[in-house]
Amino acid sequence: MTVPIAKLSFWGVRGSTPTVDPATWRYGGNTPCLELIAPDGTQFILDCGTGLRMLGSRWAAPNGGKAPETHILVTHYHWDHIQGIPFFSPLYVENNEFHFYSFRSKFLGRDSLKQVFEAQMALPYFPVDMSAMNAKRKFKEMDGGDSFTVGENKITARWLNHPQGCLGFRLETPAGTVAYATDNEPGDAKLDESLRELAAGADIFINDAQFTPEQLETAKKGWGHSSWMEGVKVARHAGAKTLVLFHHDPDSTDRMVDSILRQAREEFDSVFAASEGMVITLGAPGDRVQAHMPGTRTALRREAQFHARVCGVTESGKDFEEETMVRDISLQGALISLKHLPRLQSELQVTMEAPGTDGVQAMNLRGYVVRIDAGPEKGHVAVGVVFTD
Ligand SMILES: [Zn+2]
Ligand SMILES: [Zn+2]
Repeated sequence: MTVPIAKLSFWGVRGSTPTVDPATWRYGGNTPCLELIAPDGTQFILDCGTGLRMLGSRWAAPNGGKAPETHILVTHYHWDHIQGIPFFSPLYVENNEFHFYSFRSKFLGRDSLKQVFEAQMALPYFPVDMSAMNAKRKFKEMDGGDSFTVGENKITARWLNHPQGCLGFRLETPAGTVAYATDNEPGDAKLDESLRELAAGADIFINDAQFTPEQLETAKKGWGHSSWMEGVKVARHAGAKTLVLFHHDPDSTDRMVDSILRQAREEFDSVFAASEGMVITLGAPGDRVQAHMPGTRTALRREAQFHARVCGVTESGKDFEEETMVRDISLQGALISLKHLPRLQSELQVTMEAPGTDGVQAMNLRGYVVRIDAGPEKGHVAVGVVFTD
């Protein structure tokens, strides 16, 4: 019997507006877009932020191209959740079929999402109009509390607390459950309860973590967002297994997101900060939730032979220290072979010995673990790090 496996990909993780500041590239600057491939091959897309363009450019039609149907769930109509639509190339391909789900906005009335499409592509805001979109498009209205099934998967929507309304979605697949709750502010008793219902027992709970707990109590109160601490509280209360911090503030640099993640990990066992290109598989034998990070962006790489001492934390949270060789290095990062299995998205202190004019010199660098692969030597893992200073 084959084990059902679902694959969740993060194409956009930034809130409010895209960022191109180099200080934000490690987590990524595209606005919300996730893709979930269920074990039966059904493809879901969650939100249509600018990350949707990237998904379109790497498009692999669902069901191997036979009757390619995709189900797109849109949480609400703020720019950061719809801006990728005109740039999503599969919408211009005749054979594709898209089912869109969203709510009826009181500001737009019937067919709200369809109107959003038309308005976005109206002249002079976009060079071609809707008639250029050849794919089949079907629109379905959903209300908080509604649920439906596609194949073996059940989707439920619940209202969240956000200006002009927002839906959270719960996707139950045979491989596990994903709860997607972005753009939500805690503090409304009824909607706080609906968030806990969405997250109940979820394997992956993706929650808005735009602000710090301090900002949420003061300057950003009422803006419709949440913090890592609120996510931890809900995850604990609802019995969610893995928390993913999402919708990073456009003003949060990678170092700020690192610090948010570090604090959340002190309070809850399994936490990741959503990162562009990150893939989480659900239901794999042995380890139900496995996260993978993309390779570092193209950088000049050189083979090298540096002795190095590496200190960090293992996956199970223990400190370790070991001597190794660095064999591949760029100005941005390195690939290091280790016997210890460090935790993804944790920091490693890497001390390398480099020949200098007066003998060997120690070079201290702080590395952030972006990927872990099977190593070339037995009993080793190949650990990709990005140097952060
Ligand atoms: Zn948003
Ligand atoms: Zn919003």
